[in-house]
Amino acid sequence: MCIEVKNITKLYGEQKALNAVSFSINKGEIVGFLGPNGAGKSTLMKILTGFINASEGQVFVSNFNLNTHKIEAQKSIGYLPEHNPLYLEMYVKEYLQFNASIHKVSKAEVEKIIAKVGLAPEAHKKISQLSKGFRQRVGLAAALLHNPDVLILDEPTTGLDPNQLVEIRNLIKEVGKDKTVLFSTHIMQEVEAVCDRVILINNGEIVADKNLNELKKNQEQIIEVEFDFKVEKQFISKISHLKSVNNIHDTSWVLTFDTEKDMRSVVFDFAHDNGLKILNLTTKNKNLESLFREFTS
Ligand code: ADP
Ligand code: MG
Repeated sequence: MCIEVKNITKLYGEQKALNAVSFSINKGEIVGFLGPNGAGKSTLMKILTGFINASEGQVFVSNFNLNTHKIEAQKSIGYLPEHNPLYLEMYVKEYLQFNASIHKVSKAEVEKIIAKVGLAPEAHKKISQLSKGFRQRVGLAAALLHNPDVLILDEPTTGLDPNQLVEIRNLIKEVGKDKTVLFSTHIMQEVEAVCDRVILINNGEIVADKNLNELKKNQEQIIEVEFDFKVEKQFISKISHLKSVNNIHDTSWVLTFDTEKDMRSVVFDFAHDNGLKILNLTTKNKNLESLFREFTS
């Protein structure tokens, strides 16, 4: 087991930020820690990395008990905190070399990490001159310097523009290939894009823990489609594998299918064969979305 969280409770004064949280993560997994703002994600991550203590319970990282072997546990963890605190007046390379010296990591290794996270063109700049996306790369590089087995990333994509978002997600996937990764987000689609598994937290409690492949397997496929003409419900109902048909307004329909097969082309063929044009078509992953809504609203 790479990360083991046993019955963690955290009180901030009277407030219970975490209530008997338990889960474990195997070596090599990329796990999304999903929950709305205030759910307790950062609190748990600070406990996992030894920055704050739990009120009750135990945490093991790489088989080291955080209470008794904190330094050993921390050596196996790379941590990108929320809001990524950086020294803005330092140069990228200077900052990373400074961090490397703390971990007794060589300058050659720093160069390798700079290349790995795609920072080479910006390495001579001051951190204050970098975009948010590149600042996140600096944070990620700093977390990777001592070659930890475990990466704890607290909302690494929050505040990024759509291009940066995709780049950082891909980078997480790439560096996650030979690491165990727990990363938090309040964005459901993020989990689908990056993870093997999702742990859903709400109000300080774990409310779901699912493998994404399993979720995908028994998921309902939902297609929203708009035709150029009004059609009768009985007519639409001829499409195969339909579980339900709902008319949202005149020419727009929500079609729910109970098959793994991608039904978009079937809907296109249906339209074509019946002389209809499709003005709009979108698909949705019902399961993760409904899971999220069910447990967090
Ligand atoms: P998340 O990261 O999921 O948004 P947090 O772990 O930051 O959630 O916060 C969980 C709850 O604990 C929130 O209600 C927050 O206001 C509270 N909280 C977090 N840090 C502190 C603190 N240092 N002192 C008091 N309350 C806190
Ligand atoms: Mg947070």
